[in-house]
Amino acid sequence: MPESPSLYLESRYRKLVRGLPQTIFFCPVCKGSRHRRTKCEKCQGRGKLTDDSVQELLGRRLLPAYRARTGKFHGAGREDIDVRMLGRGRPFVFEVVGPRRDDVDLSAVLERFHAEEGHRVQIDPFVVVTRARVAELKEAQYDKRYRLGVAFEGEVPLPLLQGLVGRSFEVAQRTPQRVAHRRGDLVRDRRVTVLAVRAMTADPGNATEQERAVAELDVDTAHGTYVKEWVSGDEGRSLPSLSALVGVAGSCVRLDVLEILDGPGR
Ligand SMILES: [Zn+2]
Repeated sequence: MPESPSLYLESRYRKLVRGLPQTIFFCPVCKGSRHRRTKCEKCQGRGKLTDDSVQELLGRRLLPAYRARTGKFHGAGREDIDVRMLGRGRPFVFEVVGPRRDDVDLSAVLERFHAEEGHRVQIDPFVVVTRARVAELKEAQYDKRYRLGVAFEGEVPLPLLQGLVGRSFEVAQRTPQRVAHRRGDLVRDRRVTVLAVRAMTADPGNATEQERAVAELDVDTAHGTYVKEWVSGDEGRSLPSLSALVGVAGSCVRLDVLEILDGPGR
């Protein structure tokens, strides 16, 4: 069979571990360039900073099955590498570029995928869609539910945190410093609703940074909210922040997406 136009496979992924990026994590120094990476010290010639990503785990099974060389991953947004994606997962389209077969048993591919990778990534059954679906996913706006682990400087202000439960806050958010260089520096109005607060126990002498969390919060946030910056305040760029609301500086040390709330339906 000759090479065909791209095939578009839609699904949702759940990412059960931290440290796994959604797409190939190219080295920021050499950008993965075949020529520049050979002498790159940052990535030791690998061109990327992690062995795996959701994109690569899928590509290693889908591309050989379709006898295609290239695949593209189109996510409905993305979470940071250290953030788990739980609940019903995040919608995406995997584009198989130039498939040379069309008789692939996708359920068998997924069965093998889950046998080998199911402990860290789970994928819904694929549905074949058209290219137009990629733009729909990219443009859709959706609220998100997060679970935050928050470490405070000093004692956990538990009664103050509990007083926030059920309350909703309009937040004026300037573009975080860490992304302002590529997103433009603007102030946007976002909304954060606090759903639940729990106190966690942590052993301060024997805890990694991620385990240092001493309060856990569930929150709903409007599309585009920078939730880590809402916790810290990002040096006054996020107002009011969680830190400002309770009067104690806090930082987000652990983050899960619990659900993408009003995702782009199909
Ligand atoms: Zn490099």
